Amino acid sequence: MKHLRVLATGGTIAGSGAGGAGRAYAPGRIGIAEMAAEVRALGLPATLEAADIAAIGSQDIGWAEWSLLHQEIAAAQNDGGIDGTIITHGTDSAEETALLLDLTRPAGKPVVIVGAMRPADAVGSDGMRNFANSVRVASDSQASGRGVMVVMGDQIFAAVDVRKARTSSVDAFRGFPRGPIAAVTPSSLDWFGPPARVGEGARLPWPEALPQVDILYAYAGMAPCTVEALLGCGARGLVLAGMGQGNAPARVLDALADAVRGGIPVVRASRVDQGTVDRNLEVDDDARGFVAARAFGPAKARILLQLLIASGIREAREMQAQFDRR
Ligand code: ASP
Repeated sequence: MKHLRVLATGGTIAGSGAGGAGRAYAPGRIGIAEMAAEVRALGLPATLEAADIAAIGSQDIGWAEWSLLHQEIAAAQNDGGIDGTIITHGTDSAEETALLLDLTRPAGKPVVIVGAMRPADAVGSDGMRNFANSVRVASDSQASGRGVMVVMGDQIFAAVDVRKARTSSVDAFRGFPRGPIAAVTPSSLDWFGPPARVGEGARLPWPEALPQVDILYAYAGMAPCTVEALLGCGARGLVLAGMGQGNAPARVLDALADAVRGGIPVVRASRVDQGTVDRNLEVDDDARGFVAARAFGPAKARILLQLLIASGIREAREMQAQFDRR
């Protein structure tokens, strides 16, 4: 029997008010004690100790909740009586929380993030099944050494790969460039390969604060003043959600290169859902001092850039090495 710590943050998995066929609902309404009691009744091979640390939609998550989660995971990983941690979380920003914790914690005992696309009282609700699946995953003997994982729609994704790819439907999550790393149901679990990060320490230190990094969405006809506007707002780093391979109109690229010359790191990601952004294809990254986001989408590129700036890593080549890492 494994002993798991469950940390609840809110989201649709704890949402209610949809009333069966209804649509409107409020996230973060159901306490974790209630959900844990329901999952305990399924007889899974784990005991659960649960704590509510927030009750918010994940669109509102930020430094305060992330610091608490980081602290709680560290405590659980150092506690011989706890075998793994489950975080119930909204799906909107699950990929950001997953990557942030994945990069700043050793890949030791399992850390599993789980959410739901349908609130608890909606017909066909997926929350309790996803939660039961997360208990199955976190209590599995082969779950450690894989970094932070996201469990959704009977699949398990590694934090580095996962992204929310659909606004609704229970299979809203995808893995890129790697697909799911396992299939799970409350009664079965099939890993598609061995853990690849056994014994790996934290890739980056937990920061004292996260610097302001903003994302610029590129489009035909975009004006360079958008770059100046964000810099005027206090951005200390910029991520371009570029067209195609991380492109933007020439004048915008010029403004971004000026920002780099002024000490603001710039990462080129893509507004396209899938595909890598590679160096020096259409855009001369070497000449302009840009970093290519590779397989990270803009939201995750932003998290990594925040951590790199906070760690004092400012040189484009060093930054690129972190984005190249899988
Ligand atoms: N807005 C909600 C959240 O991210 C949506 C969800 O959980 O699916 O908290």
